[in-house]
Amino acid sequence: MTAWEIKGWCPGALRPMQSGDGLVVRIRPPQGRLTPEQAQAIADAAETHGNGILDLSARANLQLRGVTEASHPRLIDDLRHHGLIDPDIQTESLRNLIVTPFRAPRPGLDPGPLVGPGTLDEGRGPGSSPGRGSLDATATDTLAATLTAALARMPRLPGKFGFALDTGPRPVLTEASADIRVERSRDGRLILRPDGHPLGQPVTDLARDTIAIAEWFVANGGISNGRGRMAALIARGIVPPDCTLAPAEPLPAPAPGLHPDGALVALAFGQMQAATLRALAALGHKIRPTPWRMLLIVGATTLPKIAGLIIDPADPMLRITACTGAPACPQARGDTRQLARQIAPHLAPGQSLHLSGCAKGCAHPGPAPLTLTATDKGYVLIRHGTAHDTPSLTGLSPQAILNHLKALHAPPL
Ligand code: SF4
Repeated sequence: MTAWEIKGWCPGALRPMQSGDGLVVRIRPPQGRLTPEQAQAIADAAETHGNGILDLSARANLQLRGVTEASHPRLIDDLRHHGLIDPDIQTESLRNLIVTPFRAPRPGLDPGPLVGPGTLDEGRGPGSSPGRGSLDATATDTLAATLTAALARMPRLPGKFGFALDTGPRPVLTEASADIRVERSRDGRLILRPDGHPLGQPVTDLARDTIAIAEWFVANGGISNGRGRMAALIARGIVPPDCTLAPAEPLPAPAPGLHPDGALVALAFGQMQAATLRALAALGHKIRPTPWRMLLIVGATTLPKIAGLIIDPADPMLRITACTGAPACPQARGDTRQLARQIAPHLAPGQSLHLSGCAKGCAHPGPAPLTLTATDKGYVLIRHGTAHDTPSLTGLSPQAILNHLKALHAPPL
């Protein structure tokens, strides 16, 4: 029994989640991108129907905060007008799809033998299901449309079950939460890799093969009490057939800055004001949310200087992860983000920190070098563990943490 509440489902727009500051309304951008008009509409809606604060989630979705029961229906009407709302809750909850923001090979990062004979798009027409995809600028969009359409034919899956379309030159979403991953093999073929397994199946028909592996998951006991993740099933030694192809070597999450596909800009804690999104929309580029607390401004050739954006890859705020915390999260045992802003300047170069409002550890479920978790008796410090692992120090006040860092000029705690 945990001390925190596990909901087992992700909020959506049609099924928002109650939080300490009102309803959290999560928008899942169609095929992982927003037009400038859609971004403008979201900014307007956040101010009109919410508290003007937007979150970028770890699954590359945008969340409006501070929505009320009264304002929710009008918010949905406004967003639906811009193509941002699914027809019903079931369709919305199935659309757990993260799409790579990158579409073209990245100069300076050798994609290996990804482009070669027999690896180019086979020229299927619209509506067909691509198999071996190309690296051209439209391949990922085409694959995203195919996979999105296939989601409606999936078996009944747990609320957190998700898909990653990671079909740039090399995988970049391996740390993002997903159960079935579409990647490229080392020789450029499309593969379906079940999360937790090092190898994937070759794809012949993306829609059919993805549905088949989801059905395999259900048939092989992947779901218990309505919950279940692929990696847990794989860890039990139950592996789907034909997983023989190794994926291309993954890349780490990129840093803010100019990239071949555009400008990557970061948000402290993945949060921004509506005015920041409005200013980005006014640049006139498509926007691709990412799972790294960053937005890709597609095609931008200069870094936008807009209040609320982090564009310096050395900014220490990039090395602090902090969840919503108190007072906006009802489960929080203490403040997170105000303390994180105070701590950031005192972090040593290269030092990173996870600050969690409770032991659930939403912002960083895995282990971190250093984690501070708020408890009813102050903060606890955990080294190389998760927010609920055994601490090495307990009962820390915010001032004690700051004093320690200031005195030692941010050595490891
Ligand atoms: S980890 Fe943070 S956001 Fe998650 S439940 Fe706890 S306080 Fe809330």
